[in-house]
Amino acid sequence: MQTKTNPLSTAIKKYFPIVCILMLLFAFWTGGCGSFSIFEAGVSPETDAAGTLTVHFIDVGQGDAIFIQAPENNILIDGGERNSGVADYLQNRGVTSLNLVLSTHPHNDHIGGLLAVLENIPVQEVIDPGVVHTTKTFEDYLTLIDTQDIKFTVGRAGLTRDLGEGLTMQVLHPADPSASNLNDASLVTKFTFGKVSFLFTGDAEEKSEALLLSSNYPLQSTILKVGHHGSSSSTSAPFLEAVNPVCAVIMVGADNRYEHPHAETLQTLAAAGVNVYRTDLQGTITITTDGETFHLEHEKNNP
Ligand SMILES: [Zn+2]
Repeated sequence: MQTKTNPLSTAIKKYFPIVCILMLLFAFWTGGCGSFSIFEAGVSPETDAAGTLTVHFIDVGQGDAIFIQAPENNILIDGGERNSGVADYLQNRGVTSLNLVLSTHPHNDHIGGLLAVLENIPVQEVIDPGVVHTTKTFEDYLTLIDTQDIKFTVGRAGLTRDLGEGLTMQVLHPADPSASNLNDASLVTKFTFGKVSFLFTGDAEEKSEALLLSSNYPLQSTILKVGHHGSSSSTSAPFLEAVNPVCAVIMVGADNRYEHPHAETLQTLAAAGVNVYRTDLQGTITITTDGETFHLEHEKNNP
């Protein structure tokens, strides 16, 4: 969907995925190598990946929607606002069923677009943090899970799933959520495929990050979905240091009223040397991996 290509933007587009791959290889070959060992405390083991995993960070404006196309499973994390077009995005790619839908927390910019998904695409199971919200959207969401007879699981830290062909999912948070702070009730999940891992944080804020840091969970991840659309209330420097990602994705709408992403967050990421991609600038961002290296593509070429 690019409208204009100039040599510089083409070079940037070509260059960044290579940088990501080189940095990843560098991390494995040098000091970072040991950090992927199963013997190191708090670091998840590599898995035996087979096939290809594709993760789509779908541009839904201000909101999250992440589609994980795994060898044996189709998984969706959040759906953006109502009418986000996520159901169409999936159907246009020939997705006829979803094995798993994770809704990180009940805010509209995460569950709104799930309504059309639950209505139109067969879903085997929904996992959410089990906190309630007093909105029509949340009520409709619960009604659909019920009427479509979808298996419902409350996600709690410690829940793990083997998703086949070397893909594993771990729920790292919440352990004890409160409906009084829905952002901090966000499901935080880590997906590991071979040597490549993804940390999906929903809108979890610093309080959740502090709990995660005090836990024994393996936070280090190759790719970080930045918490809460790049708000300064998330992505504390100690948390980012523990995750130590090669690339970070901020899911955010252009000119949003919260002024996300905040300058502090961008500075924290820049200071840590993380390559940052943003859906407001680059549109849908797609990462493909064989479990050894990964390749990143984006829809638009804005810097
Ligand atoms: Zn949100």
